Amino acid sequence: MRKTYKYRLYPKKETEQKLYFVLNRCRELYNAALSERKDAYKYAGKSISYYEQQNDLPEIKHEIRPEYQDIRYDSFTYPDGAGWKFDGQYLHLTKIGTIKVKLHRPLIGKIKTVTIKREVDEWYVTFSCEVDAPEKLPVSYEDVGIDLGVTHLATLSNGEMIEHPRYYRKAQKVLEKRQQVLSKKKRGSHRREKARKLVAKAHRKIARQRKDFRHKASKQLIDRYQVLVFEDIQTSNLTRKPKPRQDGNGQYLPNGARAKAGLNKSILDAGWGTFVSICSIKAAWAGRTVIKVDPRFTSQVCSGCGQVRKKDLSERWHRCECGTELDRDVNAAINILERGRRQQGAISVEASCL
Ligand SMILES: [Zn+2]
Repeated sequence: MRKTYKYRLYPKKETEQKLYFVLNRCRELYNAALSERKDAYKYAGKSISYYEQQNDLPEIKHEIRPEYQDIRYDSFTYPDGAGWKFDGQYLHLTKIGTIKVKLHRPLIGKIKTVTIKREVDEWYVTFSCEVDAPEKLPVSYEDVGIDLGVTHLATLSNGEMIEHPRYYRKAQKVLEKRQQVLSKKKRGSHRREKARKLVAKAHRKIARQRKDFRHKASKQLIDRYQVLVFEDIQTSNLTRKPKPRQDGNGQYLPNGARAKAGLNKSILDAGWGTFVSICSIKAAWAGRTVIKVDPRFTSQVCSGCGQVRKKDLSERWHRCECGTELDRDVNAAINILERGRRQQGAISVEASCL
């Protein structure tokens, strides 16, 4: 199995200049290769294959065309064992130099590829390692249905909740402020460049916080439950802007656009799709199971008796004639778990018939 580790690099000034040089060189080669490919296609009506071209790359006398200059290139990779050496503390790159690596967590396995990446003004190395399959977690006898939502990031079928990270909103505010500042700076000015960097840094911080949070939350779930059932949601469908509704006089009526607009933000904040993907990957490593089920009516159906109890988004409480009374999202999570069990049952019945 492959596992990747990412660490911060601390290059000295002169080494950093060489790193920049390599990045620029990569971009030039890439652009030259791209235009060569375009020309070949244009003049000869044939396309040059990647391999054919890769062999030629070092020889290309590059005349870079302005239209391709914008391609950003902020990383380069050593695809095998050549050109680098890592001693556990320092990374030695041939023709570039020695760079200190901050090993904030231990690296396990045999390094297969090395990627150097620049993120705004910081440098990172990513090691892709070949590792033995990990020990599976001991079997858990608890399964869970998970309703991903707006009020809470996740509501579990046992009534527990995982809240949205609040600090993300704060970081979002910082970002918005910095973007405003940037928009007021004169194009091409030194101050604008400075403001642009601050915006990029705010983006980076938010991305890190989100990533960190998703990993922690998904680890908690995987550690505890054997089977995790989610709704199979295409986030893109949910985040579509609602169309305004028109009444007979041509006036626009509220159609919940405001409520939904707020919802959109939260959905994007939460990054549901990514969250489920991370859970799936961790589950595979740990010997757990993630099931995705049909999301229709999970919040409308009564988890007690199976009848449909229609309610709109503002109704936070599920109350049914059968006596079932509980939080709307917990009701949904129980339905999700139930669907997952049925789906899993159907699969194992099918398998045993084979
Ligand atoms: Zn009921």
